[in-house]
Amino acid sequence: METADVVVVGGGPGGSAAALAAAQSGALVILLEADELLGGNAARSTGYVAFAEFEMQAEIGVEDSPEQYLADMQAEINRQKGRYGLIFDADLARRYAEESAGTYRELTELGFRFDRFLPRPVQHTVDRMVSVADTAMFTTCFESALADAGVDVRYRTRAVRLLRDGDQISGVVTEGGPRFGAADGVVLAAGGYQANPDLRSRFQPEAQASTPYLGTDLCRGDGHIMGSAVGGDLINMTMIPPLVMVGSALVEDSIAVNQQGHRFHDEAGPYDDRVAALEAQQDQQAWYVFDNRIAQAKAQLVDEMPKPAVSGTTPAELAAAIGCDADGLAKTLDRWNQTVVSGTDRDPEFGRVIFGHPRTGIVEPPLWAAPMVVGINFPAGGFQVNADMQVLDVFGDPIAGLYAVGDCVGGVSPAIGLGGVKITAALTLGRIAGRVAANGRR
Ligand SMILES: Cc1cc2nc3c(=O)[nH]c(=O)nc-3n(C[C@H](O)[C@H](O)[C@H](O)COP(=O)(O)OP(=O)(O)OC[C@H]3O[C@@H](n4cnc5c(N)ncnc54)[C@H](O)[C@@H]3O)c2cc1C
Repeated sequence: METADVVVVGGGPGGSAAALAAAQSGALVILLEADELLGGNAARSTGYVAFAEFEMQAEIGVEDSPEQYLADMQAEINRQKGRYGLIFDADLARRYAEESAGTYRELTELGFRFDRFLPRPVQHTVDRMVSVADTAMFTTCFESALADAGVDVRYRTRAVRLLRDGDQISGVVTEGGPRFGAADGVVLAAGGYQANPDLRSRFQPEAQASTPYLGTDLCRGDGHIMGSAVGGDLINMTMIPPLVMVGSALVEDSIAVNQQGHRFHDEAGPYDDRVAALEAQQDQQAWYVFDNRIAQAKAQLVDEMPKPAVSGTTPAELAAAIGCDADGLAKTLDRWNQTVVSGTDRDPEFGRVIFGHPRTGIVEPPLWAAPMVVGINFPAGGFQVNADMQVLDVFGDPIAGLYAVGDCVGGVSPAIGLGGVKITAALTLGRIAGRVAANGRR
């Protein structure tokens, strides 16, 4: 059996951050990744991240604090509480908010670049969400940092069981049998359980348990299953919120129209409001409409839409292709384009924040429409952990040598509606887990 001080299961942002911190703390680290590349869902994501009191805020004079970030998370949790039975770990969320600025600094040192603020005033009460310039950085920057730190990364290696030595978690078994011993601990960083309909069916009504999800097919809840097999306490597993499936970066340059050719909501508003708005439309039918400039520039996001986009040279042709009212669509496009070029930051109809680079509107033919489809957002369920990211059992006692990070942790995830929380918490709390697993202290 090969051995290390720390074995990390999964190389998304949580696992990469944990492995790096553990190695920088002097531990011998093996990172097992089921895929051929690092980055996990973060490399496939929109790349929105959110920090409190970081340099970019100072540059534009935004006042923020970890307390304010925590209050925004708490407000989002209060909004969700009516729908799900939730356990929000406010202490962990505070720690995350406090250490988030350190994550920003570390990312910039690793070579990450951030291009702009994404205001979401309904969710983040101040400007604190920014976008990573290129989500491939979750792969490339961590690949080189982990190599420099001496982390032994094993690709195409799927962990399937945890090993125990008495009460201590002592390693993992991988598919096909090879074992990896971990003298100081194992970090579960295998992402969520969205790609595992059997596991989802324990927490969702049957009809919803196999609805589509975004991202990699490798988030099969392996971490959740392995950790619960040794007594880990899973919380918030029923929160698997519905979501209109679309990359946020595509929404920025699109409008949504219904069968009448009319807009009907703030396309960039809270995820659950978007689902409710779609479900209120005739036949629950509507489309994202964008122009050819965006179809070219954001081709990957268009390809990833659950149903193919169709095109038409004019608004009337597009309306005929999707079966919506041609006059309604033409008028809606005119109104939207006037709003965009006017330079206003807010759409007067639904209060949507308008981005647009450049502010040309939806004009370049052919015009495109992709059907809106409801799937799921990221499941919120994961392990209850302590401040050291150690997995707790149902009695609240830590399981010796077992840590969880990212989508394997349950206590902060229900704040997902804020935007940027998933990746940033995975990175921030991942660093803590790595440090503690390596040193046995915070
Ligand atoms: C389209 C899309 C857009 C998103 N946009 C955003 C956004 O803008 N902001 C945000 O905060 N969040 C966003 N998310 C969510 C975010 O990407 C995830 O919540 C985040 O990446 C979770 O980090 P993680 O490290 O826990 O897991 P992941 O990033 O899911 O990585 C888990 C890794 O573990 C590997 N793995 C799984 N099982 C095993 C196993 N048994 N053995 C070894 N390896 C295993 C997987 O291959 C994967 O590489 C988005 C996700 C998608 C798909």
